[in-house]
Amino acid sequence: MKCILFILFMTTAASIQAQTNIAFEVSFTEPQAHYVDVEMKYKSTRPILSYQPSTIKMPVWTPGSYLVREFSKNVEGLQAWGGKGNLLKTEKTAKNTWAVYDNPGEQVTVKYRVYANEISVRTSFVDVSHAFLSPTGIFMYVDNTINNPTTVTIKPFKNWTKISTGLEPVSGKPNMFQAVDFDILFDSPIEVGNQDIFEFTAAGVKHEVAMYGGGNYNKEALQRDMAKIVTEETIVFGENPNKRYVFIVHNFQSYGGGLEHLNSTVLGASRMNYTNEKDYKGFLGLVAHEYFHLWNVKRLRPKALGPFDYTAENYTPNLWIAEGFTAYYDNLMLRRTSFYSPEKYLDLIAGDISAVENQPGNRVQPVSEASLDAWIKYYRPNENSKNSTISYYDKGSLIGMIMDLEIIGATKGQKSLDDVMKAMYEEYYKKQKRGYTDAEFKVMAEKVAGKSLDKIYADYINGTNPINYPDYLGYAGLLLSNENQGKNTPYLGIASAVKEGQLTITHVSRGKAAWKDGLNVNDEIVGIDGYRITSVDELDKMISSKKVGDKINVLISRDGILQTIEITLTANPNAKYKITVDDKASPEQLAVRKKWLKL
Ligand SMILES: [Zn+2]
Repeated sequence: MKCILFILFMTTAASIQAQTNIAFEVSFTEPQAHYVDVEMKYKSTRPILSYQPSTIKMPVWTPGSYLVREFSKNVEGLQAWGGKGNLLKTEKTAKNTWAVYDNPGEQVTVKYRVYANEISVRTSFVDVSHAFLSPTGIFMYVDNTINNPTTVTIKPFKNWTKISTGLEPVSGKPNMFQAVDFDILFDSPIEVGNQDIFEFTAAGVKHEVAMYGGGNYNKEALQRDMAKIVTEETIVFGENPNKRYVFIVHNFQSYGGGLEHLNSTVLGASRMNYTNEKDYKGFLGLVAHEYFHLWNVKRLRPKALGPFDYTAENYTPNLWIAEGFTAYYDNLMLRRTSFYSPEKYLDLIAGDISAVENQPGNRVQPVSEASLDAWIKYYRPNENSKNSTISYYDKGSLIGMIMDLEIIGATKGQKSLDDVMKAMYEEYYKKQKRGYTDAEFKVMAEKVAGKSLDKIYADYINGTNPINYPDYLGYAGLLLSNENQGKNTPYLGIASAVKEGQLTITHVSRGKAAWKDGLNVNDEIVGIDGYRITSVDELDKMISSKKVGDKINVLISRDGILQTIEITLTANPNAKYKITVDDKASPEQLAVRKKWLKL
């Protein structure tokens, strides 16, 4: 009897679970105070005779931004009602978890409010002008029903007339959208307001651009230029898997950054930067970056990055591929579409090499470890970060470049990193329908290269040895030189800023003069050699008037105690790299250069 009953319960629970469709309604009764009102309706999946309540949860992070952000900190006033309109007992049981004492099978309505006042591409913010809903911080899920379908109905505030989202509209139901599961819901930000919307079609995909915040952009130029990038990136992977794609662009006085999604992206821009050529290309670079992600990381992804655990950190050693290679391809795409000349592109690469090689943390933290530690280091930088870490974007981008050159060189211009990305996409996203492991990526890259990549992995990805750039650039008949070579410039090795009227040390660089002789972050520099110093400019002039080996007396205030510290100035070791063309390049080298730079 017990046994039969047990089976019955199981069947009942399973069938209810399969049917459960969680419906959300989002409204804005007090947008001026930055509140979002959320109503969530679900059918209880709690088994009959179970004493366990239903559990509802809010994610703690948003995929693409590897930091536990504790979105539930913004939730308040959660209440639940049963099928007869009766108030149900609810209980908060963990930071992002609530128990709802509902009855098996009954329709439950949960209401809560979310304070949304953090401007970024990965957090929600609402005011009277618009609402940006970053779904991981707005919507909750019933435990164990994350694979269930869901709908969202938006009730716009007063005069808001437009909704922009990658979610699929429900036909015949205005302002209602659907997602096949919560992975899709959580991956689909929603912009509501009076945004300026324009469209373009490229690679057979209809693209919608939703501009919030105004700005000096030229729609025709953006339609033309964004289409070029879409077309070029589609060539890399051989197909564009979306039918429709949405760019949500937030224009503020001074802003930047982006976050990728499956069929949409959120971009941050400075509203008056569109007419400045450098800034405009920076914006196109951001478009190229986030759009490239629709393949690299949203579909072709490391194993840990989907399906996600929304309640904790998801560790991967491969952000140097997911982010670094995307960063490599963003400017490469601007080169291939001729937004950057070959010379300009090489200057940008030289700048990237200088930035990575001048950072002391590059000799301390392997880029694979930087990826694993994104959660505690990259997203939580401190005054010592430059000494102890390296960015998986910056270093990963250079790993992409040397791997690309290695492959082009080894295959005499027949193959490139494009072939690795495309083959990985075909094999793991399309065929095996799963994420790849670190070893699987290496195997594919070696297969395309036709040679071992052990050195790149051991020395540069999992190790901290200096990258031998001249060898890799040499494949393309390019030369690397250091314009600072032999300059012997005196150097203190700090960063400083005027804070509350005091010239304060903000960073002390590992191994340099200030590090060796004991200047500290937060020391106030009062004067040098008897002269008052009040600004960064005065400090720079004072140091540059000295010679390497000179001793200087720095009067500082450390926690209110005045003291003089003697510093022996050392030579500035920072490089300023330049890439130039080797006039004696062989036909083989010229072929590699032609392939790499699309000449
Ligand atoms: Zn990215």
